[in-house]
Amino acid sequence: MLANFVQATYVVAGVLFILALAGLSRFETSKRGNAFGILGMFLAVVATVVAVWAPDSWRGEDWADRMPSFVGTADVPALVILVVVVLVGAVIGVFKAVRVEMTGMPQLIAQLHSFVGLAAVLIGFNVFIEIRRELEAGHAHEHIGFSMAEIWIGVFIGAVTFTGSIVAWGKLAEKIQSAPLTLPGRNFLNLGCVIAIIGCGVWFQNTQDWLPLILLTAVSLFLGFHLVAAIGGADMPVVISMLNSYSGFAAAFSGFALGMNVLIITGALVGASGAILSYIMCKAMNRSFVSVILGGFGAATAVATRDEQGEIQELNAAELAQVLADARSVMITPGYGMAVAQAQYPVAELAKKLGEAGVEVRFAIHPVAGRLPGHMNVLLAEAHVPYDIVFEMDEVNDEFDETDVVLVIGANDTVNPSATQPGTPISGMPVLRVWEAKKVVVFKRSMKPGYAGVENPLFFHDNTYMLFGDAKASLDAINTALPAAIER
Ligand code: NDP
Repeated sequence: MLANFVQATYVVAGVLFILALAGLSRFETSKRGNAFGILGMFLAVVATVVAVWAPDSWRGEDWADRMPSFVGTADVPALVILVVVVLVGAVIGVFKAVRVEMTGMPQLIAQLHSFVGLAAVLIGFNVFIEIRRELEAGHAHEHIGFSMAEIWIGVFIGAVTFTGSIVAWGKLAEKIQSAPLTLPGRNFLNLGCVIAIIGCGVWFQNTQDWLPLILLTAVSLFLGFHLVAAIGGADMPVVISMLNSYSGFAAAFSGFALGMNVLIITGALVGASGAILSYIMCKAMNRSFVSVILGGFGAATAVATRDEQGEIQELNAAELAQVLADARSVMITPGYGMAVAQAQYPVAELAKKLGEAGVEVRFAIHPVAGRLPGHMNVLLAEAHVPYDIVFEMDEVNDEFDETDVVLVIGANDTVNPSATQPGTPISGMPVLRVWEAKKVVVFKRSMKPGYAGVENPLFFHDNTYMLFGDAKASLDAINTALPAAIER
């Protein structure tokens, strides 16, 4: 009876996770999707606590067969450990989530992926300790080959995810250089690691010994580090979604090792959705998945430097307010700088004021703008920008030539015309063709290049004007000056 309750709750949780993903795929339903996800996770945790806590009298005869392996030996210490770790995890989670700035989200996500990877490694070790205990006590273990394979594959993916995510965190948090680490013969090194891991896995499967498992873990930890270290800044969006996918598959294999259906379902959902996201990100950047994985991109830049490119033109907030008041159509292309400046609120206010004055205002969102898939959409939704004026790059990229003014707010790589030329780390990446508009105004604080480290010739175009300063301060000043400009 209790086993039925626990398993049924896991199925309900799995369905809620699927509904969560479905909800998260559209702005309008994303809050509902989030709520489904929270409810699903809550139910899964409750069912697990009940399973661990349940006294023997509540457990049917088939309990051991139907429950995950870790609830087989429930006792008071197990429950205490469970409650303590859940509380510690929850406190750390709440503390981190409350303190994190929107610009720090990618780093936080990389950290969370590293936890999933580490958990998968520890679960693999733990299940192996249990199985060895059984074997040493003289009990036969059914399907030992399968169990060993579940353990080593889970440990392998978990270890790669763990170190890979730590390197990704370092690159995103700018603790380590985002340029790729290009060791000589790095592809052979990776190939050698994969062969060594498979060899150790087979050895482990046959001997059920610690040595191959420890060697496999060490090589996998190195492989995770090396794979991500070799990927340059320009390809980081794919790395994030790829690690997201790995963390899901690591969890799914932990689910197999533990015999826990809800973990298999959740891990498979995360793994598959992360893989689809990686594909979408690769497409957005016009890169093949294999070339991203092989790394080495993001170092050289053959673009002319600032001195070779000529003069820039500047504009102040009051002048821009007048330009906007006189325009018929305005396109806003936000980027990472809007997130840094927290400028989404004054941007939303400006869009509203211009709309009320009869100016057509639209937002053009590049798929890898910001530092997180969907980063700009989240910020604009937070500031209540109506969804129907927010467009994906492909929907509006042909309409810049009919636009009077483009406001580039803290975007750089995603509007860089050198992506259309060969020889740069972003070459081939589709970009927003803002330079085709009648006038382009770039909001930024300096002449520094964007995340990929490529100089931006857009700043030197005849129809481009720079508005230097923090984007939020500049937009506040424009909002103040706009009513008078509209009156004129
Ligand atoms: P970029 O990171 O290329 O450029 C951001 C610009 O914002 C900089 O030029 C910076 O210039 C400016 N800026 C920073 N702070 C402020 C501020 N307070 N006020 C005004 N301007 C500011 O941004 P994009 O969004 O165009 O490109 C995203 C890049 O990040 C791409 O290379 C993408 O590959 C990468 N990436 C994307 C991920 C994703 O999933 N979306 C994940 C990881 C990486 P200045 O310092 O002079 O002000």
